[in-house]
Amino acid sequence: MIITLSLGTLAFSTVNAVVSILPQKTFLEKIGGDKVDVSVMVKVGNSPHTYEPKPSQMKDISRANIYFSIGVEFEKVWLPKFKNQNKKMKIVDMSQNISKHKKDPHIWTAPQKVKIIAKNILDKLINIDAKNQTYYEANYQNFIATIEQTDKKIQNILNSIPANSKFMVFHPAWGYFAKQYNLIQLPIEIDGKNPKPKELIWLINEAKKQNVKSVFTAPEFSDKIAKQIAKEVGVPVVKISPLNPKWSENLQNLAKAIAGD
Ligand code: ZN
Repeated sequence: MIITLSLGTLAFSTVNAVVSILPQKTFLEKIGGDKVDVSVMVKVGNSPHTYEPKPSQMKDISRANIYFSIGVEFEKVWLPKFKNQNKKMKIVDMSQNISKHKKDPHIWTAPQKVKIIAKNILDKLINIDAKNQTYYEANYQNFIATIEQTDKKIQNILNSIPANSKFMVFHPAWGYFAKQYNLIQLPIEIDGKNPKPKELIWLINEAKKQNVKSVFTAPEFSDKIAKQIAKEVGVPVVKISPLNPKWSENLQNLAKAIAGD
């Protein structure tokens, strides 16, 4: 039984892919289905801003036929090393044709951008595995429908609060989400650094003035300062990671917390 099963898996999966972060795995599996085997570089609890791949992950690279980058920080140093490790591996960019905000790599937090990511994935998969084109196209259509449903659900949740509502977050990972839904992100961390005492006082006053419902933090970062601010303002700290693989549910949960549901 077990032998049959593993042979079956081998026969099905024709593309060996590596991605940088978990949401990419989610997107790629939606379109690639059982034709694509996906390994992830940045595991749960790590930050793609400071990540360094482990030696065992270099083995994943040696076996891969394709690497999907997305423009996160560690790629700058590591993509050339990956290329050296496996010269036959294609490196393609999931963030192609997406206009980016200055210094903000977190494009996958906006459903609009994820639609473009989905098209990039489709094109690259057809390019590397043309015989499964029809299969990939059908999966792509389903995924686009999921993205559109997600977008509608988020809009419905956010209908209860005024446009340009502000939300406070430790690491500014939600800029594209904010832009798409007419929200304003108030970051605690500035250029990757903790606020100075004066800035901290300003942030506390601003949070009170703007009636923020919670202070968001992510498991990849220390929540010490977020907790301090939340305590002063009298709102909860909500842990939510932009790297959560349950992409759709995660964005809906963020919207609910912003709306104070
Ligand atoms: Zn980040």
